[in-house]
Amino acid sequence: MAAERERLYLFDTTLRDGAQTNGVDFTLTDKFAIIRMLDELGIDYVEGGYPGANPTDTQLFAEPRMLNATFTAFGMVRRPGRSTSNDPGLAALLDAKAEAICFVAKSWDYHVRVALETTLEENLASIRDSVKAAKDKGREVLLDCEHFFDGYKANPSYALACAKSAHEAGASWVVLCDTNGGTLPHEVEAIVREVVKHVPGDHLGIHAHNDTEQAVANSFAAVRAGARQIQGTLNGLGERCGNANLVSIIPTLKLKPEYADKFEIGVSDEQMKSLLRVSHDLDERLNRWPNRHAPYVGDSAFATKAGIHASAIVKEPKTYEHVEPEAVGNHRRLLVSDQAGRSNVLAELERIGLKVDKNDRRVARLLDEVKEREAVGYAYETAGASFELLARRMLGTVPKFFDISYFDVKVEQRGQNGHGSEVLTTAVVKVKIGDDTLISAAEGNGPVNALDVALRKDLGKYQKFIEGLKLTDYRVRILNSGTEAVTRVLIESEDETGEHWTTVGVSPNIIDASFQALMDSIVYKLIKAGAPA
Ligand SMILES: [Zn+2]
Repeated sequence: MAAERERLYLFDTTLRDGAQTNGVDFTLTDKFAIIRMLDELGIDYVEGGYPGANPTDTQLFAEPRMLNATFTAFGMVRRPGRSTSNDPGLAALLDAKAEAICFVAKSWDYHVRVALETTLEENLASIRDSVKAAKDKGREVLLDCEHFFDGYKANPSYALACAKSAHEAGASWVVLCDTNGGTLPHEVEAIVREVVKHVPGDHLGIHAHNDTEQAVANSFAAVRAGARQIQGTLNGLGERCGNANLVSIIPTLKLKPEYADKFEIGVSDEQMKSLLRVSHDLDERLNRWPNRHAPYVGDSAFATKAGIHASAIVKEPKTYEHVEPEAVGNHRRLLVSDQAGRSNVLAELERIGLKVDKNDRRVARLLDEVKEREAVGYAYETAGASFELLARRMLGTVPKFFDISYFDVKVEQRGQNGHGSEVLTTAVVKVKIGDDTLISAAEGNGPVNALDVALRKDLGKYQKFIEGLKLTDYRVRILNSGTEAVTRVLIESEDETGEHWTTVGVSPNIIDASFQALMDSIVYKLIKAGAPA
């Protein structure tokens, strides 16, 4: 079976096209980390950027990168009216330490005349010359046909001439770009079916933008019509509405028989299990909250709320899930909420690893407790770690690590009112561990930060267990429950293993709510690390 499957190639452009996203600015360190991540995931081509366009990208291509993936530099074909030996942009590209060069060229006659202000024939010559120059330098060559689909609709023979020129000059891939992102799947499929009559499909790629939210669908439409390379980005990053999302494309290729039976990709089953982590790592780097509703990797992708479904899921998961969540590193979530039935709670306890008989009276008590707390503002659907602690406490399995016997937070303004004054925040925390009392004080850039720093400064014998603990997100929401407003604080934490968890605190006082969430996070980490009581 496997031998008969055709190879389909994945090309990632997160670092080039993805970097066009508003507010995204990758540092060199980010780029190195993302390249490593993509390489470990099994992506075939990793486009690093545009050497010569900015110092970061120039530096990135100054040294060769040892990867399994083909490291690719991006840039324009030679300018009209110049020779390949007299074009500084092309020279920078040819000097880049990359195994492949992906050129971009116009393929819409209108753009050739209006934007490039040159003749149609000169544009074809520029494509041929640039491909040949890169081939002569020993590089694998790809050519992105910009605005290919719009160009094809306006002047099919010219768009095809661009594609054919690149192919005949020796480009291994001619990539059809839906640059404006407005082409629809049936159009992509019909046009690619025509193109494969002139350039073989195993030399054709698709580069789709998401302006009608069909970049993924357009990529598959091109594959159905014969294209054998898909270009995309992690999490669909990209300017305007983004590029085709490889995080959705990879599992569809590997888990849906229509594609899985026909194609083989460089991502193994094992590598695909890292997909959720890869997706979240990128968000982390960009300081973005992961999209809960992202297909395959979102927290909600395999979450079910209603009690009636939960009992069916426990019996037969396949009835409610289109693929196995574990295949992409995700897991089934049966949401514990005020709608939760007993089966939700039982399934969640089982996932956590708490063995309880389903008729145990404590299960009903836990459910009541969850309902009561959610009514006043706790959000256990989001704060899974706080739910786990609540459950463990009710089942009597949380060791008493330490007690906070006192804390004090002071916010003061020093200096003259207005000019030159500064606001200082200090916190003092008294922790009791066994017979010892530890007192820590710390300054912070705000009350919650000061409290956090003071609390984690000295936890005595537990300090070594929380060394790798980091708070990665802090969200505050004011809720109006009944007559008084309460504050809900959600804290996301991460540790040295890369695991993320969320804890919750609720109080009329924001400091108190934050403190509860902080404490839950630390206790959760201690339990996870197996710290002794
Ligand atoms: Zn693009």
